[in-house]
Amino acid sequence: MAHLRVAVVGAGIAGLVFAAALRRTGIQCQIFEQAPRLTEVGAGVQVAPNATRLLHRMGLRDRLSEVAVAPESIEMRRWDDGALLQRTPLGDLCLRRFGAPYYTVHRADLQASLLSLVPPDHVHLGVRLAAVTQDANEARLHLADGTTVAADLVVGADGIHSVVREQIVTDTPRYSGQTIYRGLVPAWRVPFLVAEPRVRLWFGPGKHVVSYPVSAGRQVSFGATVAVSDWSEESWTANGDAADLAAAYAGWHTDVTRLIDAADRVSRWALHDRDSIDRLGAGRVVVIGDAAHPMLPFQAQGANQAIEDAVVLARCLAAAGPARWGAAVRRYAEVRLPRVVDIQRRSRANARTFHLGDGDGQRLRDTAAQVTSGLDQHEWLFAYDAEHVTTTSGSI
Ligand SMILES: Cc1cc2nc3c(=O)[nH]c(=O)nc-3n(C[C@H](O)[C@H](O)[C@H](O)COP(=O)(O)OP(=O)(O)OC[C@H]3O[C@@H](n4cnc5c(N)ncnc54)[C@H](O)[C@@H]3O)c2cc1C
Repeated sequence: MAHLRVAVVGAGIAGLVFAAALRRTGIQCQIFEQAPRLTEVGAGVQVAPNATRLLHRMGLRDRLSEVAVAPESIEMRRWDDGALLQRTPLGDLCLRRFGAPYYTVHRADLQASLLSLVPPDHVHLGVRLAAVTQDANEARLHLADGTTVAADLVVGADGIHSVVREQIVTDTPRYSGQTIYRGLVPAWRVPFLVAEPRVRLWFGPGKHVVSYPVSAGRQVSFGATVAVSDWSEESWTANGDAADLAAAYAGWHTDVTRLIDAADRVSRWALHDRDSIDRLGAGRVVVIGDAAHPMLPFQAQGANQAIEDAVVLARCLAAAGPARWGAAVRRYAEVRLPRVVDIQRRSRANARTFHLGDGDGQRLRDTAAQVTSGLDQHEWLFAYDAEHVTTTSGSI
């Protein structure tokens, strides 16, 4: 096999990073994306050192430093009086310790940065995958327009509602009981939140809010959860009603209510999860990112893990050579599964601890938060170098 024909489904963070990382190794791929245009939700994303170090190596150091914000700290506070529960220093301390920054970035800025690394003629827009089939010789993408694309390897980067994942497991996304409102506010409207750039979280009974600056500090992105037992909307995302959001957070600390009041528009998302799986490939199909391991956003690691996946899979394919793609997929799963399953589990656990009602459990959580404050608790997560682990902890 002279060339490996790699077809990627989905041009989200996972698909774009994979295409860029693969290109660095000299292997080309084609991306098939259902959206007619590549746009991103008006929201931010936190990108931690475990992923920024990989993006820097791909050539995005300067570009990201121009559009992202490097917060000085992560602060956790109480919902009513705003009392500080924990402060984790970031900024220069994080950079020195982990050799890479912690960034908060507008999703559109991250997407534009990633797109700059992928040749435009490798991204096919408005192309929806309907099904995948495969045999010993090749895999085939059956597209919604009736055409078929043949490939040696199909990489499913098609998100939580993945079609490609059906080749590996028959499951469906499970509604978590939580919705999240997301909004962006011009920084000048919330001066009390921008004097020092921080990731701010407020925890309260059944709810929490997270906010941080993006767009080089010009905007503040926030997410605010609201539990709803049934999600009856047909879609998993909808326009949110800012008045409903304000009502849900009535009585919270004024930093929260003033932030919510400053938003002209909010979107609303139903948070879904899936059980962890014990393999990431089947025959000529492999999954990365949310298609492989959707995560509740309470560890802020879904995109970070998608970036790690993409870089590791590209590395494995390059190291194995075109004829040994099967060995590459096995090695990818061996490296990735323990880590992503652990982070999925921690994300679910945070859904419970963030939302504890006031009482014994909450007091225990808050005492523990003060004890564990500091960067040490993030060592396992931020110091992890996915490329280094791939090349040193085993062979293909
Ligand atoms: C509220 C919220 C906050 C979050 N905050 C953070 C954070 O701070 N840090 C972090 O690391 N993570 C965060 N995450 C998680 C992160 O957003 C996701 O893990 C990440 O975007 C997943 O990227 P992906 O490329 O795997 O999937 P997606 O972004 O879902 O991309 C999948 C792509 O595939 C395309 N596609 C789907 N089906 C098909 C098909 N049949 N044919 C063709 N194309 C298809 C889609 O159109 C899409 O472009 C958050 C998530 C939420 C909901």
